[in-house]
Amino acid sequence: MSMVKRKSVKKTKMLQLPEGTTSIFVTTQVEGIHYWSKAWKDKLLNVNYLKHPHRHMFHLKLELQVYNDDRELEFLVMKRWLNIIGQKIFGDLAHLKPIPMSCEMIAKEILKEVQKFVSSLDDDRIRSASCEVSEDGENGAIVSVMFCRWS
Ligand SMILES: [Zn+2]
Repeated sequence: MSMVKRKSVKKTKMLQLPEGTTSIFVTTQVEGIHYWSKAWKDKLLNVNYLKHPHRHMFHLKLELQVYNDDRELEFLVMKRWLNIIGQKIFGDLAHLKPIPMSCEMIAKEILKEVQKFVSSLDDDRIRSASCEVSEDGENGAIVSVMFCRWS
């Protein structure tokens, strides 16, 4: 029995993970009002109301590839930054502006800001990023892209 145990310990020490990628993610929620002027006109499904401004708590999740395990990008700073981007899109709480954007469009808008950030880094490596935007945490969109400094 001890021989079996010793063998497994030895294997554990030599175990190495296969090559892969590491990403960090941050999440936040922002209040927003949006509408979709091209909402389906299906009487049976009755989603025509989506063309009128309506409120959601938009759940945002941003994932960005990192190259070391020692907080290359600080979660808390990224989260605050994501909040600022959210307010830039929806307006601050005192001045919410109805926006004609879907979750897909909002995710792409957020990723444009991430692209500016990645371009500002002194680093030519490619980074994957993905942004998830949902309406009240229920349904939404995920957009994934690859960034490099010169893109
Ligand atoms: Zn909606």
